[in-house]
Amino acid sequence: MKPRILIIEDNEQNMYLLTFILNRNGQEVLQARDGRNGIDLALRENPDLILLDIQLPEMDGYAVAREIKNDPVIAGIPIVAVTSYAMVGDREKAIAAGCSGYIEKPINPDTFMDQIAGFLPGMPQGKRAVP
Ligand code: MN
Repeated sequence: MKPRILIIEDNEQNMYLLTFILNRNGQEVLQARDGRNGIDLALRENPDLILLDIQLPEMDGYAVAREIKNDPVIAGIPIVAVTSYAMVGDREKAIAAGCSGYIEKPINPDTFMDQIAGFLPGMPQGKRAVP
């Protein structure tokens, strides 16, 4: 079964790039443009991994991560924060909010799949298509 990855991201260019890379590497993608829709989609679809932008309208990514981790139905889904923040302490904040990992923007298509490989089921490193 294809891994399914939920992307919660409000920037269309980043959404497009992430979706493109993941699709090229055999991943099914679910998309949400804000935190509330992302949480609803996670509850409905039970994805294998959540890629979470931190700068989101309404709820920020930290609040989204905390809510997911406080819901026993979806708390087990790993979350990787994707953020352009480069300030000291952001990684710690993402981890404290319940994220399992952290990727900084801009996304590098050459290394992205390796960066998330450890969080995906059945995705051995070195078996990826190059976009
Ligand atoms: Mn954003």
